[in-house]
Amino acid sequence: MTTEIYLDGNATTAVLPAAMSAAIDAMGQRFGNPSSTHATGLKAKAMLDQARACAVRLLGVGDGRLMFNSGATEGIQTSVLSALVALRERQARGEVIGNLLVYGATEHKAVPESLAHWNRLLGLNLTLHKLPVDASGAHDLALLRQVAGSAALICTMAANNETGVVSDLDGIEAVIMQTGSAAYWMVDCVQALGKLTLDLSATRIDYAPFSGHKLYAPKGVGMLYVRAGAPFTPLIMGGGQESGQRSGTENMSGIAALGVVLAALERGDTFRSHDALWRFRARLADSLRAALPGIVFNNPFDKALPTTLNFSVPGLSSRELMDVFDAAQVRVSAGSACSSAKAAPSYVLDAMGVPLWRSAGAIRMSFGPLTDEATIAAACARIERCGAALRASCLIASESAAVPHDGLLQLGVEGACSWLLLDAASGSCVVIDPLPEMTSRIASYVRCQNYRVLAVVGTAPDADRNSLVDALGEHYVADAVDEFGWPAAALAVLALEGGAAAPAIALGAQVLASLATDAGKASRAYLLGAADGNRLPAASVRFAFSAGSRDEAVRAVSAPRTLLCPTRDVQNQFCTSMMRHSAATLTAEAQLPTPSDLQLDSAALEAFLQANPDTVLIDVREAYEFAATAAPGPGGRVAHSVPLSRLTGQASGWLQEDQRPLVFFCRSGNRSMKATQCLRRLGHHRAYSLSGGLALAA
Ligand code: PLP
Repeated sequence: MTTEIYLDGNATTAVLPAAMSAAIDAMGQRFGNPSSTHATGLKAKAMLDQARACAVRLLGVGDGRLMFNSGATEGIQTSVLSALVALRERQARGEVIGNLLVYGATEHKAVPESLAHWNRLLGLNLTLHKLPVDASGAHDLALLRQVAGSAALICTMAANNETGVVSDLDGIEAVIMQTGSAAYWMVDCVQALGKLTLDLSATRIDYAPFSGHKLYAPKGVGMLYVRAGAPFTPLIMGGGQESGQRSGTENMSGIAALGVVLAALERGDTFRSHDALWRFRARLADSLRAALPGIVFNNPFDKALPTTLNFSVPGLSSRELMDVFDAAQVRVSAGSACSSAKAAPSYVLDAMGVPLWRSAGAIRMSFGPLTDEATIAAACARIERCGAALRASCLIASESAAVPHDGLLQLGVEGACSWLLLDAASGSCVVIDPLPEMTSRIASYVRCQNYRVLAVVGTAPDADRNSLVDALGEHYVADAVDEFGWPAAALAVLALEGGAAAPAIALGAQVLASLATDAGKASRAYLLGAADGNRLPAASVRFAFSAGSRDEAVRAVSAPRTLLCPTRDVQNQFCTSMMRHSAATLTAEAQLPTPSDLQLDSAALEAFLQANPDTVLIDVREAYEFAATAAPGPGGRVAHSVPLSRLTGQASGWLQEDQRPLVFFCRSGNRSMKATQCLRRLGHHRAYSLSGGLALAA
């Protein structure tokens, strides 16, 4: 099995083996409660004291406080609460306090969210003020100088989680000191631990939260530093643990593990040197440049932690990049971990003024200081593999023309889609309803495979087809066209059912007929199939393309085996059949099994395959994911690759076959479920989806 390469260290890290042993020891041999006064408790207390003493030395805590807690989000709450309670008390005493809660524009969301929450809860009504950063991600110190005098609390981070950009803490401190600002100052040190040297009590910093899981300790343990003399209010009251600063029985296994990590940092014999980490990043960057032409790095390497890369690739979305890396078992993230499911533009990159395509398409690749040479070398090889897979799929430019793909291709954007009808044998294709967002994707796809585009047609008149026609250049070969983009010199007139006739063009061995709909010619539909003389027999497999599958013209020519391919596909159905619109089918549809009945988990799949050895396993991930995958299909079996975007072209074949069982799979189970539902709607009774996808199919 191919091992995964984990390059998402800024989201979390694995636990250091020695830390894991310490955690197990704290749950086994040394399970005591440090508050107990018997020997079992005293042993636990000794471990707790040792971990704290190490943290105190390592971070330069001096006379300040250092308490263990559940992580940085808690540390941020405690800091904000402490500062705001003190401000409220000062206000109550009649002191003048600043009216601004200043925070860096690229702070982790925990900071502005906590500020807003406690400001509201405590009724302070101070103003949240976002401090801008420059193009390199550095805080705007000139603006800080302007507001420092009115600031009640200033929150900045030591290093950013998305870009690794290291803040100029000395510069910020100088501004605070020079302006005589009375503001409290919190510095989120989560990404700095183990990567930057900290001597906290030698600075003006009042609060510094840390998190264990970003540096090889488990999740759910962290620390908070509070400067000697800085106001402090406990967030959690109870049994008085942590000297009354943070009640609740301590997370001893977490603290034991964190203690081991801190001790390793102090000894300096476990983690890679700064220089080694710089070299690792340079090697990854070189591989990325070679594999992904046009790549743009969004973080200035000389101002960022050596463990973080953040990049975008023209023409590729973060979803596509994530998918291809994931297929190659390289774990990276899109923007920050919290927003990666949404693939929304990154607010961090937005704040740096990065153009939208880069901010929405950004990938973060980050590694921890335990990473070794072999992992970096393996990562570089996989990056190369990803580049080759994307080139073969024409998603990035290649010097040599790719082998032409054949059949139907659906390219969707939020419920609308374009169709490409590709005939590899004749090297010709037709585009139906080109979406503006897809212009460059379609043009580079056509160029890369050296297709001749016979027509760019629309289901509506005068839609914007010109931008695609321009982008296609010499690959577009139609002469005069009507308002739907249909070539005036259509080659043939086909006879359709009911005596209707339609102009048609040849697309290799098939023909494409143009059907004027009866709604005052306001729309068109197109019918693709294999002609028999001047007829398009209803008994053959045909595909009807229209804006909506209920178009009269489409209904008139639809036979049971015609697949309806809408260019509006809000429900992600890919294709339906005319049967769908009959009363009988509506009843049948109501009887479709529920999604859970269409799913097989890996154990059920094994049993299913035993019972049904003729099952066809189909990988519906896109071709570049399939090509980047090093491992075979689930359970080591060979699978067919039929990307979801090409499902329609294949569906009729599966329907014709003797309904052999089909099991679709993908990365996580979403796309395979869509394919399964599509086939079920079309009347296939034995289509299933592998639930949880390859991610769970060990
Ligand atoms: N601050 C920064 C910069 C982070 O990267 C994170 C984690 O993503 C946090 C705060 C929150 O830390 P925790 O997961 O320990 O609550």
